Amino acid sequence: MPLQIVHHPDYDAGFAVNHRFPMSKYPLLMEALSARGLAGPEALSMPRPAPASWLKLAHAASYVDQVLACEVPEKIEREIGFPVGPRVSLRAQLATGGTVLAARLALLNGIACNTAGGSHHARRAQGAGFCTFNDVAVASLVLLAEAAARNILIVDLDVHQGDGTADILGDERRVFTFSMHGDRNYPARKIASELDIALPDGTGDADYLERLGGILPELTARAPWDIVFYNAGVDVHAEDRLGRLSLSNEGLCAREAMVIRHFRALGIPVCGVIGGGYSTDVAALAARHAILFEVASGFA
Ligand SMILES: [Zn+2]
Repeated sequence: MPLQIVHHPDYDAGFAVNHRFPMSKYPLLMEALSARGLAGPEALSMPRPAPASWLKLAHAASYVDQVLACEVPEKIEREIGFPVGPRVSLRAQLATGGTVLAARLALLNGIACNTAGGSHHARRAQGAGFCTFNDVAVASLVLLAEAAARNILIVDLDVHQGDGTADILGDERRVFTFSMHGDRNYPARKIASELDIALPDGTGDADYLERLGGILPELTARAPWDIVFYNAGVDVHAEDRLGRLSLSNEGLCAREAMVIRHFRALGIPVCGVIGGGYSTDVAALAARHAILFEVASGFA
């Protein structure tokens, strides 16, 4: 069976090409996956929009209602970084539905990936930092509510700290949140995860992989995990516009292999989401995101 990939064409909300958020990376990622032979019909599943009942497990009911009605107050829209019109609202519901679907496929098949997701700055009360709904937090709480999982591990390797996920899941003892990120990067005011590792600017492949390799066995030992959500943000890359770390393509590839091999060797299902990645060269950016899928396909 090929790697199960969750995708929807409306992950792309059609921003102007010069927008700070590189929205065109979603269709370009699909092109990159097709070019690599990973996007055949037997590999792809299309999500439905996440219903309000799922979204309200993680977010304040009033905020969910505002997003669904496209009536988010301007002050919150400014914190998110774009206005929440119909396409952005639909995109947020689809990306969240996509991570729930990818999680279910991972439980069935061992591994699955969403071509969106990793919106880890969305807090319980509201969105922030290009994140409208926190898909991984919603998916975790859906799996727990349905008793599809009892112990969930979140491994967040996006270059930015996973403050929203920590905010939503801080009191949820069945979910363990781990974030390894750039110390001097957004968000300025971090919300503590269960475990945080803050890296100095300029950390390159060797030091990065050594820290990661040291922590993975420690994470595994904490509980009998039923599933791992892996936020594979590529903004750790040396050429990322927002990241301050210095990973190469080879370093990224080694990172994905290290994480996925570690958990799959133990028989723990892995649900991958793409997380952040920022560049004006959107084709190069899409190729960076494609690395997760290439590596994951070797474990499907
Ligand atoms: Zn990021």
